[in-house]
Amino acid sequence: MNFSDLGLSAELLRAVEKQGYTQPTPIQAQAIPPVMDGRDLLASAQTGTGKTAGFTLPLLHRLQQQGAPRKRNIRILILVPTRELAAQVAESVRTYGAHLPIRSIEIFGGVSIRPQIAKLKRGVDIAIATPGRLLDHMEQGTVDLSAVETLVLDEADRMLDMGFIRDLRRIFKKLPTERQTLLFSATFSKDILKLAKTFLNNPERVEVAPRNTTAQRVSQVVHPVAQKRKRELLSFLIGHGNWTQVLVFAKTKHGSDRLAKQLNRDGLDAAAIHGNKSQGARKRALADFKNGDVRVLVATDIAARGLDIEKLPHVVNFDLPQVPEDYVHRIGRTARAGQAGHAVSLVSPQDEKLLRAVEKVTRTRIKRVVIDGYDAEPVEDTAPEKTPGRRPRRTKRGGKPAPGSKRRQTKKSGTASKTSPSGSRRRRRRQKPAR
Ligand code: AMP
Repeated sequence: MNFSDLGLSAELLRAVEKQGYTQPTPIQAQAIPPVMDGRDLLASAQTGTGKTAGFTLPLLHRLQQQGAPRKRNIRILILVPTRELAAQVAESVRTYGAHLPIRSIEIFGGVSIRPQIAKLKRGVDIAIATPGRLLDHMEQGTVDLSAVETLVLDEADRMLDMGFIRDLRRIFKKLPTERQTLLFSATFSKDILKLAKTFLNNPERVEVAPRNTTAQRVSQVVHPVAQKRKRELLSFLIGHGNWTQVLVFAKTKHGSDRLAKQLNRDGLDAAAIHGNKSQGARKRALADFKNGDVRVLVATDIAARGLDIEKLPHVVNFDLPQVPEDYVHRIGRTARAGQAGHAVSLVSPQDEKLLRAVEKVTRTRIKRVVIDGYDAEPVEDTAPEKTPGRRPRRTKRGGKPAPGSKRRQTKKSGTASKTSPSGSRRRRRRQKPAR
């Protein structure tokens, strides 16, 4: 199949051709026809599958077919969890709509609201928005959603993870009930299905990666290692494997900064990207990473969300995600658009519980490979005072405890026990960068 078989207009085909795409990806082949027909869509697709073009192309086609209205008003509303994703989707809209007289706007927080208000006043056809800032506009009466014909929820699972459900409901209330709704999500929790049931009307179901399974073309490996030697092992892997572009996930903003600094000290060009950095600093780090000036980009989950980096070969979980579904999103950063990818997780004995949660969600057992000289230490000292008599089973991994490690590990496990999933959810909310 090629793009012209899908019945897209000549202008859109020209834009697609300019991108060098020869064939629609599976999600595009499946999503474009029903979306062009005006149907609702419930799509299971991770970033990297080509899903953005999967909804952008048919929606632009529909707008073009309808012709320009007398008064420009938002006809397509695309809701996304983060400003990075908003910027990237907006770029896709501009790219694919290059030959169409269509105006779009990015609406997200962290930047002045005034230029957005001015642009809205002049009239736009498509808005790509994060929920928080869109609500600000709604409260100020600077946005009119009464003409919305299509609503797209992109990365819906992430929006729910970030605590946007109430914001979403408030937005939905202001939209015309007669509309087309498209929902894209990498994972399908009960909450997502509930959302879909409430807001979608007899949707076409499209699935490119089976439910909650990990992208199969990503080779995944776990390297067991002591917590305090993770950084050393990471530098070794990057240097030894001659990895040139590595995205590393860390748990906290502070941890990302510290790790980037340490990697720089090891002679590896590294930068950190997270919600505390200004939009400009994030853009710069991303541009440096893309053009090869920065070899290692250390990111938190939220900051990395939606980063569109082509052909990213290596993703490293320096810390495993607190929310196991995030693992799927993280490794979706590699093996993009048909490329082979490599996802490495550095797992200390204290991380084993998180690893088991990941394996449960992905329904796989990830291969463990011990790197010579970096074997994890036994964990008999894991919070002994809290779990008397419940010694963890995983003590056989070998490797003698380093002198003095017992005390340090006990301290670390104490820290780990504080970062409960609910604690992480609370942090996520505070981290919410989109408003
Ligand atoms: P997405 O999943 O929308 O983030 O897209 C992932 C990447 O795939 C982006 O870098 C797109 O430019 C690229 N892409 C989208 N459609 C195609 C296609 N049909 N052929 C090759 N690459 C594509």
